[in-house]
Amino acid sequence: MRRIATVVIGAGHAGLAMSRCLTERGLDHVVLERGEVANSWRTERWDSLRLLTPNWQSRLPGSEHEGDDPDGFRTMPEVIDLIEGYARAIAAPVRTHARVVSVCRTDAGYRVRTEEGEWHARCVVLASGACNVPCVPRLAEAVPPMVRTLTPTTYRNPDQLEDGGVLVVGASATGVQLADEIQRSGRPVTLAVGEHIRAPRTYRGRDIQWWMDAAGVLDQRYDQVDDIERARKVPSLQLVGSPEGAMLDLNTLRDRGVGLVGRLAGIAEGRLQFSGSLANQCALSDLKLGRLLDAIDRFATDHGLNGEVAPPHRFPATRVDEPPPLTLDLARGGIRTIVWATGFRPDYAWLEVPVFDRKGRVRHDGGVTPSPGLYVMGLPFLRRRKSVLIDGAGADARDLSAHLAAYLHGRVTDAAA
Ligand SMILES: Cc1cc2nc3c(=O)[nH]c(=O)nc-3n(C[C@H](O)[C@H](O)[C@H](O)COP(=O)(O)OP(=O)(O)OC[C@H]3O[C@@H](n4cnc5c(N)ncnc54)[C@H](O)[C@@H]3O)c2cc1C
Repeated sequence: MRRIATVVIGAGHAGLAMSRCLTERGLDHVVLERGEVANSWRTERWDSLRLLTPNWQSRLPGSEHEGDDPDGFRTMPEVIDLIEGYARAIAAPVRTHARVVSVCRTDAGYRVRTEEGEWHARCVVLASGACNVPCVPRLAEAVPPMVRTLTPTTYRNPDQLEDGGVLVVGASATGVQLADEIQRSGRPVTLAVGEHIRAPRTYRGRDIQWWMDAAGVLDQRYDQVDDIERARKVPSLQLVGSPEGAMLDLNTLRDRGVGLVGRLAGIAEGRLQFSGSLANQCALSDLKLGRLLDAIDRFATDHGLNGEVAPPHRFPATRVDEPPPLTLDLARGGIRTIVWATGFRPDYAWLEVPVFDRKGRVRHDGGVTPSPGLYVMGLPFLRRRKSVLIDGAGADARDLSAHLAAYLHGRVTDAAA
């Protein structure tokens, strides 16, 4: 059994950002990782994935973008290099192949059991990821056995798929990217569309992430929004990081032959049932896009940018067949595969500290859990809108390491400080 002030669980970018901040404060710690550094990017992503955030936007504490392509989008090997290089540069005290199998409270702090031994720590930081498990809806149980089902963590590339039709469920970043790739492979794709956020890759000549960063949208704090519960559930923007900087919205997919249907609402006797809300969902998404662009235009005017950037413009409304199909017979429609692009959730099955709410989520106030000395990182809108992004880990790690240091030194501060 080893004693240490702090155990950080997970050597993704969030755990490493925390490690760097703890080192800066001279705080003794270890980072326990079940696989290799950047394990999620190595083992849980599809082959063609690129970050949808531009290269300049992968800033981590003590490390700015250095390459010659700030506006490009990293491939998976490049993301792994980035995170591995960061771990080396900050000399993070990572122990790889040390899967945490339980964390429980003791009188002095926490006992952290791993497959390679036990640690006692006063503080624990959960940086084990927000996207460990794909969320697959209950209705998946009714999928007949002749139809293969995949999730974004088991899908790698179209070669894995049988010939024949594919239903992709979910039209956020993952769903639109997979629908596009599979349709291009020659398999007819139907995309089930629920709530989604349409976003242009570039607007007025600048990347949408540049605008959201410059306008402070991504820095918006968790204690400044009206409904944080709702804000934490907002789907990812319909974006793809392609070398061409292309936009990937429903109109693009439709032009490429993807069939659009409403939200998948049920499966019975081999028939898929879709909600009739497709047109409404698209209208709502167009409305929100308009609001975002209005806000950007106001920002450009207020900050004297109108002379530097292209003039404002608006995108054509999303086109939807009226009425969209409400049912589809799996066999007759030739659907051989269903890909569930219906979101992800964290996995804290090994956490034996009573900090869960009734939905099984870790309760926290900006990353500070109700259990003293226990912190969480990397969750959607944890402290800021950008918390789940690589670019969001730095600010959160700085805040939470300050709280943790105060706790270790017997000076507990306000979580929201
Ligand atoms: C498909 C997809 C695309 C994304 N695209 C972008 C993007 O373009 N830009 C962007 O900024 N963000 C993107 N994200 C969001 C985010 O950056 C990633 O989810 C990122 O991996 C989160 O980093 P993290 O360090 O919080 O978690 P992870 O990278 O998941 O790291 C957590 C680490 O904890 C380890 N771990 C988990 N459980 C245990 C355990 N019990 N014991 C020991 N170790 C454990 C894991 O092996 C892993 O290495 C994307 C996410 C997904 C899913």
